[in-house]
Amino acid sequence: MKFLCDEMLQRLGSWLRAAGYDTLIAQGGRSDYELLKQALAEDRLLITRDRKLLEHRRAPGTVILLDCNELDDCARELSQKLSINWLHQPFVRCMVCNSSLRPATENEAATLPEKIKSQIDSPLYCPSCQKVYWDGGHVDRMRIRLGKWQSEFNTDESAQADSSICAH
Ligand SMILES: [Zn+2]
Repeated sequence: MKFLCDEMLQRLGSWLRAAGYDTLIAQGGRSDYELLKQALAEDRLLITRDRKLLEHRRAPGTVILLDCNELDDCARELSQKLSINWLHQPFVRCMVCNSSLRPATENEAATLPEKIKSQIDSPLYCPSCQKVYWDGGHVDRMRIRLGKWQSEFNTDESAQADSSICAH
């Protein structure tokens, strides 16, 4: 599954990235139709809170409408509609640009402060943002949250939820 999140669901989009899903986040002022067209062209599910998007003829099967406000509620609601595995492939994508991360070379890792370098073993690198990522306390805390969502939201009930995509 690949996703396109509308602007109102940026935080949810970042967390889908953290879980390892290929997720684009729409930026400023693009029309509903443009977003839908991109989702269809790139085989992405368009996650939105904009009810108007459902009126498009080609919305069924592509547009996933959420009613949530808070992040946890959004994650729960999405899990009820799709079989999201929040522990799919954690932290393989850049949180900023969605690119796949690769192991950092020695040169790239050399930009890290000594204190951090001594504590980590395999930093990752985003070639687009030229940013080095490493497993620190922040990642641990995110991992715990992803694990919590996975165990709380993925009951047997939601495992069969795929069929509800087209039900709106
Ligand atoms: Zn990046």
